[in-house]
Amino acid sequence: MPSKDEKIFVTRPNLPPLEEFLPYLEKVWESRFLTNNGPFHRQFEAELSRFLGVDYLSLFANGTLALVTALQALRITGEVITTPYSFVATAHALYWNGIRPVFVDVEPDYLTIDPAKIEPAITPHTTAILGVHVYGNPCKMEQIQEIADTFGLHVIYDAAHAFGVTYKGQSVLRYGDLSILSFHATKVFTTFEGGAIIAQNEKLKERIDYLKNFGFANEVTVIGPGINAKMNEFQAALGLLQLKYVQQYIEQRKQISLRYQEIFEKIPGIRVLPHPGEIEYNFAYFPIFIDEKVYGTSRDAMYEILKQHNIYARRYFYPLITHFPPYRGYESARPEHLPVAEKVSREVLCLPLYADLKPEVVEQIGDIFKQHAP
Ligand SMILES: *Cc1c(COP(=O)(O)O)cnc(C)c1O
Repeated sequence: MPSKDEKIFVTRPNLPPLEEFLPYLEKVWESRFLTNNGPFHRQFEAELSRFLGVDYLSLFANGTLALVTALQALRITGEVITTPYSFVATAHALYWNGIRPVFVDVEPDYLTIDPAKIEPAITPHTTAILGVHVYGNPCKMEQIQEIADTFGLHVIYDAAHAFGVTYKGQSVLRYGDLSILSFHATKVFTTFEGGAIIAQNEKLKERIDYLKNFGFANEVTVIGPGINAKMNEFQAALGLLQLKYVQQYIEQRKQISLRYQEIFEKIPGIRVLPHPGEIEYNFAYFPIFIDEKVYGTSRDAMYEILKQHNIYARRYFYPLITHFPPYRGYESARPEHLPVAEKVSREVLCLPLYADLKPEVVEQIGDIFKQHAP
């Protein structure tokens, strides 16, 4: 049992041993290279690309700036078709680019954007599809690409949850025109804050690298209205060290997830997501979906009951993006157009999941749910 006052949160960042990080800091203090494509930045960019199996990766200060810049890099305008079932930054990145989001529903199996809903939402103003690999579940990437090719649209993936995920043996980051990653404290791989854009060709990576540094191509040339979205040397150094450990973190997450799965598959009224063999997961989240009619107790009641046990689960993603004031006025945001997303948003609860989560806590959470089972 966890001690009586210990609070269990949905996640707890993994950090390498501090003594292993100190030599990196000493190097920074010696070199006085703090940012602007310094030695750790260059090394981390190369090693991370190799680790993820991608060719054209650009590091960013955080995932949101990466997404805002990705839309700029492709000169996306007009309307973009996207999902309501995500973290709000997905839609905010469109808003900050003056792009109108067009929300379509998610498919019921993996809760990614439903390809069948995309085509009917295309108008003469549509320029791109912005999918989210939610919980690390890859979007229906082949179908999405087919639609994009037919209608001449760009495809961007918010892969903030999908660090290290592969589909048919290849990184999901190789799909679409651009993908973005987040290395925020709550993600599987963290550099405190951080992110990346993955491009599919060198020319686009070059443009992205200019844009993240005010648009400077050299000391005297500005290619466009860039921004400051550079990753600093502190983040890059930590990232290098985290790469040594992330495989181990993911393996620990896997063991915990398998145990959760075993417990929750047997409880009537609770659904867990399937994990097909063609996908290698990162076990970023463990969402469960509570059908109150069958289970007998509501999602919100269970959320409160867990809190009474000092267990702080999170309702990712509730409310839907389409319920927030900047977005709820759009026709496409109306609940009747988004029945699947509305339903799962009312049912979802993400359970605590991190590499060093104690097995006793997993059993305790399982017992709490079993006590309330029908
Ligand atoms: C975390 C997250 C982001 C934002 O990333 P930051 O690094 O926190 O800016 C964007 N989209 C999704 C789906 C996320 O989960």
